[in-house]
Parts: sequence; structure tokens; C-alpha cells
Amino acid sequence: MSDTFKAILVSRDAEKKQSVGIVDLTEADLMEGDVTVAVEATTVNYKDGLAITGKAPVVRRWPLVPGIDFAGTVIESSHPDWRKGDKVILNGWGVGETHYGAFAARARVKGDWLVPLPDGMSPHDAMAVGTAGYTAMLAVMALERHGIVPDRGPVVVTGAAGGVGSVAISILSTLGYHVIASTGRNAESPYLINLGAAEVISRDELSQPAKPLAKERWAGGVDSVGTHTLANVLSMTSYGGAIAACGLAGGMDLLTSVAPFILRGVSLLGIDSVMAPKAVRLEAWRRIGADLDLKKLSTLSRSIGFDGIIGAARDIVEGRIRGRVVVDL
Ligand code: NDP
Repeated sequence: MSDTFKAILVSRDAEKKQSVGIVDLTEADLMEGDVTVAVEATTVNYKDGLAITGKAPVVRRWPLVPGIDFAGTVIESSHPDWRKGDKVILNGWGVGETHYGAFAARARVKGDWLVPLPDGMSPHDAMAVGTAGYTAMLAVMALERHGIVPDRGPVVVTGAAGGVGSVAISILSTLGYHVIASTGRNAESPYLINLGAAEVISRDELSQPAKPLAKERWAGGVDSVGTHTLANVLSMTSYGGAIAACGLAGGMDLLTSVAPFILRGVSLLGIDSVMAPKAVRLEAWRRIGADLDLKKLSTLSRSIGFDGIIGAARDIVEGRIRGRVVVDL
């Protein structure tokens, strides 16, 4: 008989009522793929919170093992790029949405979805970065491509004490940017300054309906909140600046005007981590290895065990998680 391992499974009944529980699976239960990985670390992302609580329709195959990212060791492969013993990372590609995901000791996926664990980084480190941190890096790369360098002026990071925000602050400050952190948790100011924020502002300054244009405050930004926050951030961006939009923690709508775009030449840069091409992922992880001070990872992350995943998922959608949560398996 095959060995069993623990997994989180989200299911729904005939009335489409969602439930979540911990089950025992065997490798025979896993979905198709050409690489099987022993998952050593995973993490609880905002999207995992939505999947486990059912607060948004992230899960699109029932039942499903959630978990959108993992790091671990290949234990079986028929893919030409991967051999037993290789250390790998997975982010996105529908894993934890339509394909059995990371919240299990084993995962079977397509080898094309994997990237190598960067030298000098452990599976735990990679998941302290996780999809949130890799997305923050994609946002920074997008700002750079738009010419937003430190000399252009300050950059704003919204949802600052969250996962994307914490890693974005760490990277941008290491690169020499003057970072303005926007948070709803003013008590987290010392944490944000420790990560590298030069200034901390209250989320309330950005949460009311935006004017078409407001006083220019920053040259660029990373927004993980959306809705009025993103509209205000755009209205306060200086001439020729750019904002990388990657999240919806505050809401999915965007009530703005064309004024920032047509009167100040501001650009809105869309960031998607899930279907990003492999070359972009490899560059993002290379840059994470180069530009993220790994010592800051211990400041911005904490560890939990497998049994803590469901509670952390509930906490993250309530905005109660600071930085990143790593799950060591
Ligand atoms: P977290 O929950 O860790 O962080 C979100 C932060 O947003 C919170 O910590 C809080 O920061 C702020 N926030 C929460 N609720 C509200 C609210 N109602 N109004 C204003 N601010 C709020 O999530 P992540 O950092 O992991 O993810 C952030 C967003 O980015 C999510 O929407 C996620 O789905 C998205 N995302 C998108 C990806 C992509 O590929 N585009 C990939 C990864 C994430 P504070 O307390 O400091 O105010």
C-alpha cells in the first residue's frame, strides 16, 4: 500500500456550500503531471485565504487541494529539465486553483511550471518570499522598465504591512528608493521603518473617493489594494510617473478619471504573477537573490506548521497577518 500524507482539501456539497478539512491522500490521488515534488515549504497567500474561506471564486475544480506556491525537492520526473534531487520553486499556473496545490506533503505538476531554487536560498527562504514577494519583484521590474529609478523621486507602497507590501518595501529600499509606506495599522510603523520605509502614512489619506488630480507626491508606486486607494495613488503621481497595480485587498473596482493619464502622462502598469512567462520568472527570482536582503526575510516572516494553515488563511483575508507566513512541512 502507498504511503499516505496529510493534505488540506476544499470541497462543496450539492448546494454548493463549501467546506474545508484535513485528509489523508496517497500519490495515486494526485493530478496529472510529469514531476512529483516533496513539498518542504509553502506559504499562506491572500489568494489561499480566499480559496480556503470561499470569499472569492478562486477554486474552480472540486474538490481541490489549495496552495498556490511551494518549494521542495523533486522525487520523480519524466521531464527533461528535472531530475530526482533537484530543488525547485512553483508559483501560480493555476496550482491551488484548478490543479491540486501546495497544502500537501506531495505535489505533482508540469515540469514547465517549475523554476530552480536560487543558489544560497533554502525552501523556507523561498517561501518567506513566496508568490507575494515574487509579485513585488515583478512590480519593481515593471517600474524600472518604465524608467522609475530612485533619482526620479519617492515611491509609494500601499498595503504596506502585508506580504506584497513588506517585500516591496524591502527590495525598493535596498535599491535606494525613498519609500513611502501606506498602512491601516499605524502600530506597524516601527516594523515598516525597520524594513526600509523612509516615511509611513495612514491608509485613511488614500481611502476616500479620489479627485481627478491632487498634489504630486511620488514618481511611482506598488499598489496591492485597488479601489479608491489606487485611484488616489494615481491622482498623486508626478508627471511621467508609473504605478504597478497588482492587488485587490481593498476591492476590485477602480473609480478614477483619465486626468492622471492625459494631463500628467502617468502610466498604470498591470502585474500578473500567475501566467508570467518562464523567462520573466527566472529573472524575478534571480533579482530576488540579488536585491532582497535575505536578513530582512526573518523580520518580515514567521513560521507555522501544517495545522496552522486554515487559521492563517482566515486571518489573511481579515487583514490580520503581518508580512509573510511560511509553512514548514
Ligand atoms: P496581505 O493580506 O498580506 O496584504 C494586503 C494588505 O492590504 C494588508 O496587510 C493591509 O495592509 C491592506 N489591506 C487589507 N484590507 C484592506 C482594505 N480593506 N483597505 C485598504 N487596505 C487593505 O496580502 P498579499 O500582500 O499577499 O496580497 C496583496 C494583494 O495582492 C491581494 O489582493 C492579492 O490577491 C494580490 N496578489 C496579486 C498577485 C498577482 O499576480 N497580481 C500575486 C500576489 C498577490 P495594511 O494593514 O498595511 O494597510
